[in-house]
Amino acid sequence: MPRDPRYDILFEPVKLGPVTTKNRFYQVPHCTGMGWVRPRTLAEMRGVKAEGGWGVVNTEYCSIHPASDDQLHISATIWDDSDVRAHRLMTDKVHAHGALAGCELWFGGARSANLATRLVPFDVAEMPNSVGHPFQTRAMDKQDIRDFRRWHRNAALRAKAAEFDIVYVYATHGYLLAHFLDPETNTRSDEYGGSLFNRTRLVRELIEETKEAVGDRCAVAVRFAADERAEEDGQPVTGERREMLTLMAEMPDLWDINIADYSLEMGPSRFAKEGALEPYMSFVRSVTTKPVVTVGRFTSPDTMVRMVRSGITDLIGAARPSIADPFLPRKIEEGRVEDIRECIGCNVCYSGDSLALPIRCTQNPTMGEEWRQGWHPETIRTKGSDGQVLIVGAGPAGLEAARALGLRGYRVTLAEAGRVLGGRVLRESELPGMREYIRVRDYREGQIARMPNVEVFRESRLTAEDVLAFGADHVCLATGARWRRDLFSGKRFTAIAEDSTTVLTPDDIMEGRLPLGPTVVFDADGYYMGGVIAERLQAAGIDVTLVTPSDRVSPWAQNTGEGWRVPAHLMAKGIRLVTSQGLSWFDGRDVTLACEYSGRETVLSAVSLVLVGQRAPVDDLYTSLRYAPDGSHATLPFTLTRIGDCEAPAIIAAATYAGHRYAQNLDRSVDVDLPLRHDKIDVGHIPPPHWARAAE
Ligand code: ADP
Ligand code: SF4
Repeated sequence: MPRDPRYDILFEPVKLGPVTTKNRFYQVPHCTGMGWVRPRTLAEMRGVKAEGGWGVVNTEYCSIHPASDDQLHISATIWDDSDVRAHRLMTDKVHAHGALAGCELWFGGARSANLATRLVPFDVAEMPNSVGHPFQTRAMDKQDIRDFRRWHRNAALRAKAAEFDIVYVYATHGYLLAHFLDPETNTRSDEYGGSLFNRTRLVRELIEETKEAVGDRCAVAVRFAADERAEEDGQPVTGERREMLTLMAEMPDLWDINIADYSLEMGPSRFAKEGALEPYMSFVRSVTTKPVVTVGRFTSPDTMVRMVRSGITDLIGAARPSIADPFLPRKIEEGRVEDIRECIGCNVCYSGDSLALPIRCTQNPTMGEEWRQGWHPETIRTKGSDGQVLIVGAGPAGLEAARALGLRGYRVTLAEAGRVLGGRVLRESELPGMREYIRVRDYREGQIARMPNVEVFRESRLTAEDVLAFGADHVCLATGARWRRDLFSGKRFTAIAEDSTTVLTPDDIMEGRLPLGPTVVFDADGYYMGGVIAERLQAAGIDVTLVTPSDRVSPWAQNTGEGWRVPAHLMAKGIRLVTSQGLSWFDGRDVTLACEYSGRETVLSAVSLVLVGQRAPVDDLYTSLRYAPDGSHATLPFTLTRIGDCEAPAIIAAATYAGHRYAQNLDRSVDVDLPLRHDKIDVGHIPPPHWARAAE
């Protein structure tokens, strides 16, 4: 189908200094947890985005010198010629699809403790490491500034040698250059401190030097914050930013604009909606004639068009939408808007960087697996047989298995006990702030509906007899999990009440069984569920205390960049927060807690306890099919596999991944001893051992 002419504007080329992007779709720099460690994995993933139609594909933050080392996190590096060769893997793949490749040169300053390289970190002034490592910086002296400028220039030259088309000066996100610009952190009394003109000096020098070094062939982009400090969401405190931008307005070839509050800029959907940066962008394009790009988790082409037409931005910047759907531009271009796999704003992708793991995505299970497993977000091998597949359970795992197998051409029957599809995402998306999670279901249900070879049966709770009578060649059980009423003690599950039925779980709350009075929500899960359940109860007028054995509320949400927002949000709602307390007992009137450090017990009076602990797989169907009465494996006329939460409960991203892997591997023999390719540094040829040489 031809594209809707309303969207033509998104496919206009835009000149960026000496280069031109073929359209306005711009994948801004984003972390991947791959960087210098996994160059092949990285290159394949970026190449798929270019194939999907992004006009520009950038690297993640790319260290210019060992004095900027962010380990444990994995950045890209461009320190030497071997890095140049590694980046060529990416630029070649990006260019093969007619896209431009950009490199975000980066220097961490007080945000990088240089834990691995052990070089003493420096910044604009003496200050503590800003992410909590017990290392301080020394203040840069004139020699440091000269060295730094030379390193930046040489890195730009290496970026050009690696065939990048865009080279960044990265002046935001609390890194070194941001500290030079900031009147509070820049306490220098030399020509790099004091007046606004002086504080912008280093950034201006870098722009000029980068242009002089590579500007004949590469565009020079500057990443810059449009506001001075984080305050109320949507209420920019512009301060002197307008003056700063005006001063440098015409210097670079492209302005990549973001904001001071990273937790809003890449805000999870729980707290930030599409286009959250719009109020911050109002003045930017009025002070520069150069193209501007900004982000906003844009997934709606209508919003994108409005952003361009209303003069807010020239290019549609995207990190997460390009992760959830690397083919988003192509789908708009081909008139397939309904096929867009919309980001749900869960920020699980960001956890890859936090945990130094290759990036993963809840919506796009192929993300990060392009090289390692040869997965592709849009295409998949055609079926290897005419077998029929029965999938039981239409949560994220079952839906993704059905979609991917349907795409492969298999005859698929999807049976779901409920009337409405979606499993856990259906239930969870009703909780406060979780609405966008339903997109996990919506995308897959929409795709399956158009597949004549996939049949869906609702209100069909299958028994073992039903499954046996069905006569499929392959049976896939995706029957999910239920929250438990007992708690893992560290060694085993133990009761925490005389009568376990008095303990409520998130399933009870999601099914509308609400507590009657003051309630303790005990969160041993540590991700989002404890917080959203507490919020749900509070919204129903219930007095809620959220207790966690962790030192912080929702500790795993640190990995998704929600760490600060979750407790701040819950506190603002009037929910009491109690940390570092384990749960000993609930007797219907009191909840007995024990301090995680001293063991000292305290009592909270509460008529209800909601336990957000662990989940139990719903695997009775699997067990009754798998095992004969004597405990041996039953002989079945079909292959039997369980996937997702019914195999082992985990996050939603693990369920969509499990569904996809099942579909990929259904007719492929996987070597269980080495099931994955391993992207690692290859030491190359090793000479024969000395005893073999002696014998020669
Ligand atoms: P996952 O996250 O692994 O996809 P979910 O809990 O989200 O798991 O989804 C499991 C789905 O399976 C639910 O929608 C549930 O209604 C369905 N289900 C569970 N048991 C059966 C069964 N015996 N027959 C059909 N559907 C079932
Ligand atoms: Fe969006 Fe979540 Fe995928 Fe990240 S992991 S791109 S936030 S759906």
